Amino acid sequence: MWDFIIIGGGILGMSTAMQLKQAYPDKRMLVVEKESGPAQHQTGHNSGVIHAGVYYTPGSLKAKFCLEGNRATREFCDQHNVSYDICGKLLVATNSLEKQRMEALWERTAANGLEREWLEAGELKEREPNITGVAGILVPSSGIVNYAEVTRAMAAEFERLGGEISYGSCVTGLEERTEEVVVDTSNGSFVSRYLVSCSGLMADRVIRMLGKEPGFTICPFRGEYYLLPERLNQIVNHLIYPIPDPNMPFLGVHLTRMIDGTVTVGPNAVLALKREGYRKQDMSLGDMRQMFTHTGVLKVLGKHLKPGLFEMKNSLYKRGYLELVRKYCPSLKAEDLTPYPAGVRAQAVSNDGKLVDDFLFVNTKRTVNVGNAPSPAATSAIPIGAHIVEQVKAQLSW
Ligand SMILES: Cc1cc2nc3c(=O)[nH]c(=O)nc-3n(C[C@H](O)[C@H](O)[C@H](O)COP(=O)(O)OP(=O)(O)OC[C@H]3O[C@@H](n4cnc5c(N)ncnc54)[C@H](O)[C@@H]3O)c2cc1C
Repeated sequence: MWDFIIIGGGILGMSTAMQLKQAYPDKRMLVVEKESGPAQHQTGHNSGVIHAGVYYTPGSLKAKFCLEGNRATREFCDQHNVSYDICGKLLVATNSLEKQRMEALWERTAANGLEREWLEAGELKEREPNITGVAGILVPSSGIVNYAEVTRAMAAEFERLGGEISYGSCVTGLEERTEEVVVDTSNGSFVSRYLVSCSGLMADRVIRMLGKEPGFTICPFRGEYYLLPERLNQIVNHLIYPIPDPNMPFLGVHLTRMIDGTVTVGPNAVLALKREGYRKQDMSLGDMRQMFTHTGVLKVLGKHLKPGLFEMKNSLYKRGYLELVRKYCPSLKAEDLTPYPAGVRAQAVSNDGKLVDDFLFVNTKRTVNVGNAPSPAATSAIPIGAHIVEQVKAQLSW
């Protein structure tokens, strides 16, 4: 009998497992992960940005956990020798509409308690000679890291404290009983007193295994990137972001300095036809059936049809994609963009047709389940794990 089983070897599962073990060192804990190692899905396919907390609704869990997570991630990296770089981020407006939107973001960054600097066009050019815009906001606390490396360090810490990890164990069924939860996996059945699920793109399916209707379905959005050639590794000094459209859930194609010294362009946001489908041609009939028969998803697709088709067009035509980044970095050429592995975001869509904005948890008597944890959940992984530990503590009856 286990005291806690945690489903998912991504950054949220490992952060939670590590902090649960720190809180209850004598309890028996097991992480079950279907892949052969940690961080094989969202955690290992992202931009690697330690977000500062620019965009999020003041008072939301995203705003709170991102701000705390920015600090906590740096501390964790310092303690565990994981390299990171607080290189700062520059949000660039390229026309008067974007400048208006930027003013709203300026207010929001104040409400979210961030240090920031307003740059007029000339100052922007001084800081970033290859970037063109009418104004910008510099946020110095944004940084970069490799989240797969952070996750491996968390897994090592969990194991050092006596936790166990079973890779290659796919959870196929769950039964919550009065005193325990039975976890059926491809490697046999385990029994645990409590269960935490951090299963990312499969979050809704795991909740359904418990016999509970989650109230949402997970919609996968592929984020495709390009890599710039080595000679352009110094093209920017900061992370360069466009001003996002407030009606769109994702941030827009940005220029990201990666911790290995390279620079990526991306990600876009294209509806994926398979939850763990990293290539354009990947499709799953089961995933498509679930998506296209969900009234909430159909409503969202109807509402965002035009931008959705625009993203698909730019996914297929590199020149369209290039124009998105040339708006603020005009010197880039089509031959500068070489393909780079994509990521797939798990975005919850509610049954009544809304993209769930904030982090969401669904609990039963003996389980805590992460329902929605899109970006900035990697940045926020340590406070999210701490939040889950608090929720578990409220359930404990020993
Ligand atoms: C393109 C992209 C860019 C992003 N950029 C950033 C960024 O710059 N900064 C930031 O803070 N966030 C970013 N994010 C968001 C961030 O990566 C995710 O929010 C975070 O990684 C979520 O972690 P997770 O542990 O919940 O999910 P995952 O990393 O997806 O882990 C879930 C795990 O659960 C396992 N699992 C699922 N079902 C089962 C089952 N039945 N049995 C056993 N195991 C199971 C999976 O195999 C997987 O390993 C980005 C995401 C994407 C996709």
